[in-house]
Amino acid sequence: MNKAEVKCVHCGEPNPEHWFYCRICGKQAAQNKYTSNLWMRTERGKRSDIEFSTMSINDSISSMNQKLN
Ligand SMILES: [Zn+2]
Repeated sequence: MNKAEVKCVHCGEPNPEHWFYCRICGKQAAQNKYTSNLWMRTERGKRSDIEFSTMSINDSISSMNQKLN
């Protein structure tokens, strides 16, 4: 899902930041299910990215330490 393609269902104003209410027309910018599902997916993606990179760094450090010791 491309973030840039998220638009208000009422006026078509782009809503890349996933505002619950449209900033232009003041109506609900997207259907509830769609909004929450997309948000959940985005948050999980971010968290797994962070966890993954943190684990990678820790692994690199520990393997470096093992080599030094
Ligand atoms: Zn709108």
